Amino acid sequence: AVPVITIDGPGGAGKGTVTQLLAQRLGWHLLDSGALYRLTALAASRQGVSLDDEAALVSVATSLDARFEPSEPGQPVRVILDGDDVTAELRTERCGDNASRVAVMQPVRDALLQRQRDFQQAPGLVADGRDMGTVVFPDAPTKIFLTASAEERARRRYRQLKDSGLSVTIDALLDEIRARDERDMNRSAAPLKPAEDAQVIDSTGLSIEEVLDKVMAFAGQ
Ligand code: C5P
Repeated sequence: AVPVITIDGPGGAGKGTVTQLLAQRLGWHLLDSGALYRLTALAASRQGVSLDDEAALVSVATSLDARFEPSEPGQPVRVILDGDDVTAELRTERCGDNASRVAVMQPVRDALLQRQRDFQQAPGLVADGRDMGTVVFPDAPTKIFLTASAEERARRRYRQLKDSGLSVTIDALLDEIRARDERDMNRSAAPLKPAEDAQVIDSTGLSIEEVLDKVMAFAGQ
């Protein structure tokens, strides 16, 4: 089977960066599964579909016309929805929050399952999300659960947003992070938790390089 490394954990723990660097280093494909939930929320709002309308959201998720470009391993990814580059729009707090609202619906998760599994292509896949090791790739040989304290994650998000010129406060971000954690952990559909066979890495106080070295060691690479 094509090898998969799953990187699960709460938002802001550094999964995105670690996944990207790891895929680059290994020359493997990358799956940003959160982007699929964000795309579903974004496509729904563009089509005037309410975030409460489960049946309509399932059809939005099923018929998503989305591409990740370029698809070569290790390259920075741009996301194209219905022909528009939505890479920046997908990263907004609002889109993340809406994504976590559609992600509580099991039928929406089911609608996105096969699309995620299709990313498992040679020579390998690094998959970033909440349920990569528990639901989507349960047989993955290497499973990582990456966490960091909520305060540390708020500080990191703050720096990112400040660099991109947006004005926010750490306290507001901390509230959002806690609300999103709560929703992701307490939902009945694929609640956020480490797979039984996952290695837990707490990235609080670690550099990206240190996290990467730990993951590479666990992966035997
Ligand atoms: O990782 P990201 O912040 O892009 O994910 C946005 C939201 O999508 C998460 O808060 C979570 O609710 C949901 N999600 C999920 N399962 C995944 C990836 C993301 O439920 N595998």
